[in-house]
Amino acid sequence: MAKTDLNIPSLGDKFIDLRDSLPGDAYTWSWERPLSQINYLAIHHTGVENQTPSQIANSHITANGWGGIGYHFLIDKQGFVYYTGDISTARANVANLNEQVLGICLIGNFVSGEVPSQEQLDSTHKLCEFLISYSELSNVKSWDKVRGHTELPNQSTPCPGDNWPSWRIQIVEGVSLVFNTPSPNSKSQVDSLQTSLAYVNQQVFTLQEALQEKDKEIMELKKSQPEIARPKDATLTIVGALINLYKFLIPPGKEM
Ligand SMILES: [Zn+2]
Repeated sequence: MAKTDLNIPSLGDKFIDLRDSLPGDAYTWSWERPLSQINYLAIHHTGVENQTPSQIANSHITANGWGGIGYHFLIDKQGFVYYTGDISTARANVANLNEQVLGICLIGNFVSGEVPSQEQLDSTHKLCEFLISYSELSNVKSWDKVRGHTELPNQSTPCPGDNWPSWRIQIVEGVSLVFNTPSPNSKSQVDSLQTSLAYVNQQVFTLQEALQEKDKEIMELKKSQPEIARPKDATLTIVGALINLYKFLIPPGKEM
């Protein structure tokens, strides 16, 4: 019997340990393994909508004749993560490679345009993030260890569905980063750029006013001394160039 308890703070009460209550045996399998033997976090889909963890366990026991559920984790559409098979047991969810994987199964059938819910993806990201940081999983230390079932060596299955390439990124990057709000870092960068732009706008306005004043002075001088051709004021040339540069960089209508 193997018993590895997990505490995943990022999932809070969305992490539910079902090892004691599911049909079948969550703590024993044909063989146990050191956690260092695990090389991949294998992502699956059930291929069936709306199954409960108990129904999935029961089908593995009755239809497949196994001692318990084949997956280590199940994740439902509300983002609840169920711990179903102890990670120290090699269970049954891939062909000829079970001793090297942790099987993480998302409940649903992700074919023909169907994809996991945002809650489901967010929780999968948090679970994988925790497992990658879990020190005893010494060979699962980067996100490229997260593989769709079909991507593992010598598997002939479309699992976890034909849309997998489109939602894999949300597991790797995290849903909030990809879809919802900018990260605190990128938000502060935008704020900083907007402040800079407001400052530049103010400077240009001041320069335009100064230019208009100088124009008036020139007109006055020309009126009083029409016969004298005066060389252009160097200051005005610089101010004019700055304004042209500003107009070039920020055409009308493109201001933030
Ligand atoms: Zn699979």
